[in-house]
Formats: sequence, C-alpha cells, structure tokens
Amino acid sequence: MKPTTLEFKPQERNIFFHLLTGCNLTCKHCYINPSQHGTETVSRATMETWLKLFYKPQKATNVIFLGGEPTMHKDLAHGVKFAKELGYTTVTIDTNGYVFHDILDRITPQDAVISFSLDGPDATINDPIRGAGVFATCTKNIKRAIGLGFDVSLIYTVSSMNLSHLQRMPELLADLGVKRFFIQVIGIRGKSATTTKNLQLTPKEWLTIIPKVAANAARKGIHVIYPKVFLDENEDFACAGEHAENFFIFPNGRVYQCPLCEDFPLHSYTIKDNRLIENTGLNEAQLFTLKIHEGCVMNKLLQPGNLEYSRDGKVRHRISCCLLKQEMRP
Ligand code: SF4
Ligand code: SF4
Repeated sequence: MKPTTLEFKPQERNIFFHLLTGCNLTCKHCYINPSQHGTETVSRATMETWLKLFYKPQKATNVIFLGGEPTMHKDLAHGVKFAKELGYTTVTIDTNGYVFHDILDRITPQDAVISFSLDGPDATINDPIRGAGVFATCTKNIKRAIGLGFDVSLIYTVSSMNLSHLQRMPELLADLGVKRFFIQVIGIRGKSATTTKNLQLTPKEWLTIIPKVAANAARKGIHVIYPKVFLDENEDFACAGEHAENFFIFPNGRVYQCPLCEDFPLHSYTIKDNRLIENTGLNEAQLFTLKIHEGCVMNKLLQPGNLEYSRDGKVRHRISCCLLKQEMRP
C-alpha cells in the first residue's frame, strides 16, 4: 500500500484559532509557550470579530479551535455555531479528551468534527506523557462522541517516548470506531525544546515504522494522515508559507503562518484593534523565501537533529514543510 502526498491547496485557507493557552493537563511535550503566547483567553466578542476577520467567502475556509484546551472556553459552542453560520467550510475542535462545558451536548455532529489527542495505546504508555487518568477519560469521551454521531479523529504525537507502541494503535482505533487517524511528528518547541531528552525520531525510524503502521490502519478501514517529513530525491520542496494559506492565531494577537516559528517573536502578522497588521522587520515571511539544500529553513535552525549528512557533506534526506501531509486510505 502506497501513500499519496496531499499537495498544498492555494484555493483553501486554514485558521488555527487558539482560544486560550490555559489547560487542565501538563503534557510532557506541550507546545504552548506562555512567554510567547501569553496567558490570555479571547472574549466571546473577540472570538466573533476574529472569525469574521479571517473568513474569506471566495475561498474554502476551515477553522480548527485549539488551546490550551479549547473546551475550557465557556463560549466554544457559540464560536462553533457562529463560524458555521458565517460560512466556514469545516469546523474542528482539537481536544485533550476532557470535553468540558458539555460541549458534546451543546453542538451537533453537523456543527463540528471532534479531534481527540492520545499518545499511547493504553494508560501505561499514554498517562506518563499526558497525565494520570487521561487515557480512561479520553477513550470514554471518544466512545461517547462516536455514539452521538460525531465525526471523530485521533491525533497521536510520535516521539522517542511512544514510537515503539504506535503499532498497537490501529487495533485500538478499530475497537473504538475511530475512522480517521493523524500521526503527528513531535515538534521541538514549547516544553520539548527545554528537555535534555532527545524526543526526535531518526529518518530510519520514521521511514520504516510510520508507513507500516499507516498501512495496517488503512487495512482496518481507517483513513490515515501523517507528515511527509523526509522528501524523496526527485520531490520538489515547497514551503507552506509561500504556497498555502495557514494562520495560527494566539489570544495575545500574534498570527503565525508557520507553526515551527511559534517559540519566537517571528510572527508575520499581529491583530491590533481587531485589524490584521503585517509586521515589518525580520519575521518568518523572510525565512520562507530562503532556499537551502536541507529543505525547510526553520527545521535546520530549530531541530537539526533530524538531518543526516554523507561524508561529502551532502544531506541524505531533505526535510519537507511540516505542513506537507501524506495519506493512506482504506
Ligand atoms: S492537552 Fe495540549 S495544551 Fe494541554 S498540556 Fe497537553 S499539549 Fe499542552
Ligand atoms: S515548516 Fe518550514 S517549510 Fe513549512 S512553513 Fe515553516 S518554514 Fe516553511
């Protein structure tokens, strides 16, 4: 079974809306960086205004509500319905599984897709990473969401902490009835950037294990999406900052186009007085235009541990944009 690369879609825009940075969990690899992203929560009025600011009727516009934990926001249900009424094509809630404020009862399966995060096939693997009791709560709420008719997906962030247990996920997903599986690669940002433990995978680990697990999941009827990470020799490199429209919005008004830049004040836009202002000076937008042999510039700057060179100094695998995905369908 061979994966298909999902090319960037310039006719589409994706809005990753961090409603708050607060969370009930303290995951070991949490990507939130309060010194950069602040500790604010957007108000209900700001939620509406910013949803209007980023909506473009002439493009398919999708919004993904994130946190922190977005279901801790008491107005999330309102935000979901407001986005749908505005005309957003798809609305997704990324949750750690705690689904606060009765969110599953306050929206309908037609309003939003629910994406749960789980980092292990059982509590002994997941809970040391995400917290005691998280596996039980998350799987209970996955079942509940599926029972209510929601379109449910699951995100597994692969790192050296849980790579060897990924192979058991397809069976769990099939048992739970989850039909879409996102395998995510650990980003060296937030807490992961401060630990001395090497969380990254080697090219060999990624290239041998991930496609095999994805194929196994697809055989069980699950649609799998995972980052490309390593480009083949004949594949062109493309940066989403130049070829796609993605906006990662934080409650302090920072707007990034590249998630790898989020640990630094490199955002290309700022929302000020509810207007989107293009930043001047050095920012991520200038980095997007640089061409290097290794592929992604931010990867080389921030997480060069996944680059390998041959004796003559040539890079063995160019790194793709972290937003370039592959899929395997059942
Ligand atoms: S659930 Fe998400 S926001 Fe909360 S601690 Fe874990 S990674 Fe961070
Ligand atoms: S991950 Fe790299 S290639 Fe992708 S948007 Fe960021 S800088 Fe560009």
